[in-house]
Amino acid sequence: MHLPKQYYLQAKQVFSENDILADHYVLIENGVISSIDESMKRTLPVISFDQYKLLPGFLDLHIHGREGCDIMDATRESIETISSSLAKHGVVGFLGTTVTSTWENTLAAFATIGEAYHNQPSGAQVLGAYNEGLFFTEDHKGAHDEKYFLPLSKANIDAIIGASQGALKVVALAPELPGSEDIIKYLTAKGIKAMLGHTNANYQQTCDALHSGACGGVHVFNGMKGIHHRDPGCAGAVLLNKDAYVEVIADGVHLHPAILQLIYRMKGANKMGLISDCIVAGGMKDGTYKLGMLDVNVLDGVARTESGSLAGSTLTLEKAVVNLIKLADIPPLEAVHMASLIPAEFLGVSNTLGSISIGKRACLTLVDDNFNVQATFIDGQLSYVNQAVRELFTPRFDNNN
Ligand SMILES: [Zn+2]
Repeated sequence: MHLPKQYYLQAKQVFSENDILADHYVLIENGVISSIDESMKRTLPVISFDQYKLLPGFLDLHIHGREGCDIMDATRESIETISSSLAKHGVVGFLGTTVTSTWENTLAAFATIGEAYHNQPSGAQVLGAYNEGLFFTEDHKGAHDEKYFLPLSKANIDAIIGASQGALKVVALAPELPGSEDIIKYLTAKGIKAMLGHTNANYQQTCDALHSGACGGVHVFNGMKGIHHRDPGCAGAVLLNKDAYVEVIADGVHLHPAILQLIYRMKGANKMGLISDCIVAGGMKDGTYKLGMLDVNVLDGVARTESGSLAGSTLTLEKAVVNLIKLADIPPLEAVHMASLIPAEFLGVSNTLGSISIGKRACLTLVDDNFNVQATFIDGQLSYVNQAVRELFTPRFDNNN
């Protein structure tokens, strides 16, 4: 379905950058938001959603796979499947995230993400690559097979940068590894973010890494030392550091609701970003799947390795938003922005993405009262539409205004 070059979207609620606006009209011109108003010009067509909420499209900056496909498949087909599956869940952009595997497979995965970054798939856009894997320590390895861990060297980092063809945006690493300080500075100088995770680092080691330029914590509390009163650990350090960003898996399993609330109180609304950490089993039945080199058992949607360690999730961001609102009492606009504006700011793309505001790309998601995704727009065109709302997409001319 093709939408006009100029049209209004009207919704019961518009989640704009500063407020939730009732019954507003968002004018979209050539894929860009050009006004947000209580009224509209009669000369332009309008598409109305009196029963729905219009949100900024979600950005999932840490996602491994969906619907039987994995970034580590290193194929265009898998990127396409993940991209269109994410669009069904309101996601407009994502970072293709790797997991520890052979060096050969890792480089092939980065090459495939790099190609998709320059030649976008049809659903959610590839905003870049996220290296999660290889540079960790064993104590909190999660679903990363330590057999394939590599030294944190410039040569290894350079090979990944080269394979990804400019797409590499984030490198996760354990700061207690030798040479981490130099590598964090090296990455930072290249505009690539170092994030701390799958680590046994103590409080001081984490503070030192943040001081060297690391940006924050990979799925905070998961895959790192928690807070002990004599060792506040990596979790304590990234929560306490005002500038540190934390990724949060809000599936109700990875983090207790009280911990979601604690993170929110420590970080406020601006440094807490939702991720799905979704794996190949997302959108699939329970069963046994592969994550990188390891078998993962999925039961009631919860993925675990054979040793019982949590292994990614089957979460979607619209569910994560609902969980923040219901489990952690976070205001809806802030919860939505933790899946859109906050990750956009972290990635440095908030000038064009992340909120409903004038001049930004019309990358949007339409949800019902329970935040079930009904439609996803990328640059003002439909990337996904649910059958239930399809007929509402016929633009009309409104003569009542
Ligand atoms: Zn992880």
